[in-house]
Amino acid sequence: MSDTITLTIPRQKNIALIAHDGKKAELIKWCQDNAETLKKHFLCGTGTTARMITDATDLPVRGYNSGPLGGDQQIGAKIVEGKIDLVVFFSDPLTAAPHDPDVKALMRIAQVYDIPFANNKATADFLLHSSYMDEEYDHEIINFKQNIAQRAETLPNK
Ligand code: PGA
Repeated sequence: MSDTITLTIPRQKNIALIAHDGKKAELIKWCQDNAETLKKHFLCGTGTTARMITDATDLPVRGYNSGPLGGDQQIGAKIVEGKIDLVVFFSDPLTAAPHDPDVKALMRIAQVYDIPFANNKATADFLLHSSYMDEEYDHEIINFKQNIAQRAETLPNK
């Protein structure tokens, strides 16, 4: 069994949208400016961010729980299940958040699963203007079945 498996990010992507409170207006404006592109994909987000984008644009955004109440963790779990292909997270670097560990966990799991992750507007602009937005993209991720089999076989059990 190989250490990695090839997964395909589809042409029509599942995009998660998240903004900390101090960045919500900036993300809403970014969604308005990029509505034509975003319309071609499936959108979801943490509760308040999703609601505010839906209210301010005609984009349908499926809402999970609010970030501080576990929404970032729900989005992380969807990445693990292969159900989120790209994350745009305008985090606020100047304000302390109670759910900072959840934010770090989301960033980490996106890294593990090789998911494109924009943490500011410039990165989000570069991502959205990438030719991969209109194409499939194959990437290698850790073969979790192989990883479990190998660990179960090699770790001390007594
Ligand atoms: P919210 O959560 O969209 O519910 O405000 C975002 C966050 O702070 O992670």
